[in-house]
This record gives sequence, structure tokens and C-alpha cells, in this order.
Amino acid sequence: MYENFPEKKRIVHDRRVRLSFCPYCQTRLEMTRPERLQGDKHLAIGVCPKHGDFAVQLKVGKYTIKSGSTKFYVTKVLTHCTDEIRSLYTQKSEINREKERKYLEFRRAELEKDRQK
Ligand SMILES: [Zn+2]
Repeated sequence: MYENFPEKKRIVHDRRVRLSFCPYCQTRLEMTRPERLQGDKHLAIGVCPKHGDFAVQLKVGKYTIKSGSTKFYVTKVLTHCTDEIRSLYTQKSEINREKERKYLEFRRAELEKDRQK
């Protein structure tokens, strides 16, 4: 578990969170970009050169500290990567890329509008 994040944005891309090790040989896993599944659940694939692929499941939660401000935490679960998980990951990354592309297009159009005012 990783905690004490001031904001939720980009939390799963944090260096600490992305650092994972193979449960068998402790080699550092080569992590793919975490993709959002639904809600606060994210999935990445971690690859060990010797032991293959692992599914890295990330879940974001929040808590309130004494002063009353909100902090965020991430829990990480490493499991074996099945074909099902792999195809889910591929599917999600395609969907998310498409969403991102549309968003960037929208932003660009907005900026263009502003410039013409
Ligand atoms: Zn390994």
C-alpha cells in the first residue's frame, strides 16, 4: 500500500506505485502503462524476463487525516496474468487511447475558438 498522496490525478503513474518486483526472483518488473478499468480500479502488466507476465491491479482509495484534509492511497495486488486479463488490458488501453484522442481534439478545438475571439 502506498499512501499520503495529496491528489488522485496521476496517482497510478507515480514512480513508487509503478515499481514492482517479481514475487519469485525479486527482479524489477517492466511495467506497462496502468489502464483504468472502472471506477478507481486500474490494471497494468508487469513483465519479469524469467517468469513472464504478471497482472498488477491497482486500486485507489481516499481517507481523511486529522486536520480534515483528504488524502489518497493506492493498493497493489500482483497476480498471474491470464489470457483473459491480457485481452482485457489490451481492450482497455485501446478504449482509453481513443478517449484521450477525442479529448485532445476537443481541447484543441476549444483553444482554436478562443484564439478566434
Ligand atoms: Zn522472476
